[in-house]
Amino acid sequence: MERIKIGIIGGSGFYEMEGVKLIGEKSLTTPFGKPSDNYMVVEIEGRRVAFLSRHSRGHRYNPSEINYRANIYGFKMLGVERIISVSAVGSLKEEVKPLDIVLVDQFFDKTIKRKNTFFEEGIVAHVSFAHPTCPVLRELLYRAGKELGLSIHNKGTYINIEGPHFSTIAESNSYRKFGFDVIGMTNATEAKLAREAELCYTTVALVTDYDCWKEDEDNVTVEMVIENLKKNTENAQRLIKKVIPLIPENRNDSCECKSALKYSIITSPDIISEEVKDRLRLIIGKYI
Ligand SMILES: [Zn+2]
Repeated sequence: MERIKIGIIGGSGFYEMEGVKLIGEKSLTTPFGKPSDNYMVVEIEGRRVAFLSRHSRGHRYNPSEINYRANIYGFKMLGVERIISVSAVGSLKEEVKPLDIVLVDQFFDKTIKRKNTFFEEGIVAHVSFAHPTCPVLRELLYRAGKELGLSIHNKGTYINIEGPHFSTIAESNSYRKFGFDVIGMTNATEAKLAREAELCYTTVALVTDYDCWKEDEDNVTVEMVIENLKKNTENAQRLIKKVIPLIPENRNDSCECKSALKYSIITSPDIISEEVKDRLRLIIGKYI
């Protein structure tokens, strides 16, 4: 079977969209356990793409319960090199409006309850994370969004809270003072693991609401979020279909994602056990 080089993490709406041919489903088991769901392999504009439903189809896992490591490792097992993450977010700024799209270039990670590294229990690595999303993917998505006439921002800071609760007004206002643009519960964790696995990763943040800080807005209701989610899904589907043909077949040297581990593994190779090597072979095999 043709290698699948592009991965998308998002909701189930994506592989059900028009013009997308379902090729099959892959059920994977990784050294870190089972991913959230099967990977749906589809063809979009002649390219193979693997979709993963982050919370599982039917939405079984809350943001702290998702097995992020298995999800990212599963993409690696399929041969994926680039991941586009599609996620609902709240806006923390007036000018970032509901139904806008933000191509996130920075994260602020407030999570504490989840596994966010592949490197532990016998091996240590410190990857560079100053620029946490892939600039090449981001640029392609921005170009595609502009061509479609979408209201799209080419950068923005995403604060990643633990959840599952939405913010209090005091929290929301304090995040605004920090200058953050959007708020969500999942993407910083994914970006960290994708970088460790040397995958390009970019967040397409779909704005559903103004969080709860905006006093002239009703507080966030579930109905409002779901209605905007539907419209956002349509925009995101159009964006994905437009960007897939723009993505070059091979990664070149214009981003550093594919060599993120080159100088990052700190542990002496001679003390890395066979068990650790087996566990991480797909990620560290070319260095150890
Ligand atoms: Zn990259």
